[in-house]
Amino acid sequence: MEQNPLFATLEINRRPRRGDAVPYVPLHVTDSADRYSRQEILPGIGKGGQELLGRSHAVVIGCGALGCGVIDQLARAGVGKLTIVDRDVVEWSNLQRQTLFDEEDARTGQPKAVAARRRAIAINSTLAISAHIADLTHENAESLIIAHGKPDLILDGTDNLETRYLLNDLAVKHGIPLVYGGVIARRGMQMTIRPGRGPCLRCVFPEPSSNGEAETCDTAGVLGAAVAIVSSLQAAAGIELVVNPDRETKPCLIEFDLASTRFRTIDLSAYSDSASRAECICCAKRRYEFLSGERTRPAATLCGRGSFQIPAAGSRIDLSRLASKVAPVAPVTANEFFVRIAPRPGVEMTVFADARAVVRGTANEGEARALYDRYVGA
Ligand SMILES: [Zn+2]
Repeated sequence: MEQNPLFATLEINRRPRRGDAVPYVPLHVTDSADRYSRQEILPGIGKGGQELLGRSHAVVIGCGALGCGVIDQLARAGVGKLTIVDRDVVEWSNLQRQTLFDEEDARTGQPKAVAARRRAIAINSTLAISAHIADLTHENAESLIIAHGKPDLILDGTDNLETRYLLNDLAVKHGIPLVYGGVIARRGMQMTIRPGRGPCLRCVFPEPSSNGEAETCDTAGVLGAAVAIVSSLQAAAGIELVVNPDRETKPCLIEFDLASTRFRTIDLSAYSDSASRAECICCAKRRYEFLSGERTRPAATLCGRGSFQIPAAGSRIDLSRLASKVAPVAPVTANEFFVRIAPRPGVEMTVFADARAVVRGTANEGEARALYDRYVGA
């Protein structure tokens, strides 16, 4: 029988076994100096751009689906220093789209920041990567992000609006580029905020949408492929900011919907002129409402054993809309006064029309807050 040439190649590449007739010879081993060769030949990067990447510091806030994609790509691209901040642990429902984690991480409930750091170091051991298991708040944001020197860029991998507006405040206040990304169901968007050079998040979206109306990945679902597009757009924008920091680009918002294969780039130049930006409370009036804590929800308080109260947020919730949003994904009971959600056996969250909630059966305040963000939306 004639030997299949493909089979012969596989035989050469397989691991050696005891009793092999011929000694095992690796087919080809490249030098690690080759690592960035395909990136360095790209116009606009070159050896110089690669060196800039190696000296750069990127902060990734949130290590869910977007954060995983961004960290994977920036680590492979050789961004020399990465800071990762995330409050959650890996769950089985994350594995469908959170590409840095595996079954062992879910089985042992590893903190995402720690698991992501371990994976990123395995991908590229030349990098300095710090991981923080923390819920980013107005109280710790500046110490976590600025304390070890001003980073070159911040990448948004968060899943709630309040943290996004907090990051926008911090980026504008300290003049750090912020790469915003958002994804839900099959839809996604990406926008790069360059303080002083173009509109900020609040120029374009002055207010976060009101409580209970925003969809979340836990209520509307999310396609891993849509996440990959957004995180790639974010990583590409981040790399561009590092290798060509002074390049003037038109501010724009990229959005798409895979259900209709529609991609759109919205020109945000109109928001850039000083007349329209004069109204922005953040970058024109320089009032950092989210970073100062003025617009932040007060902390959840303990109210009995294993129960936490999340205080009213100042805006009211449409209870029937909340109930129909959550019904497909978790058991819900509702009446005219409250919506009661049972995310898992033994845990119960009761949400009232003034956006206040009582969460029973959770271990700590952080978990109570995370459940609120998942089902009600921040
Ligand atoms: Zn602004």
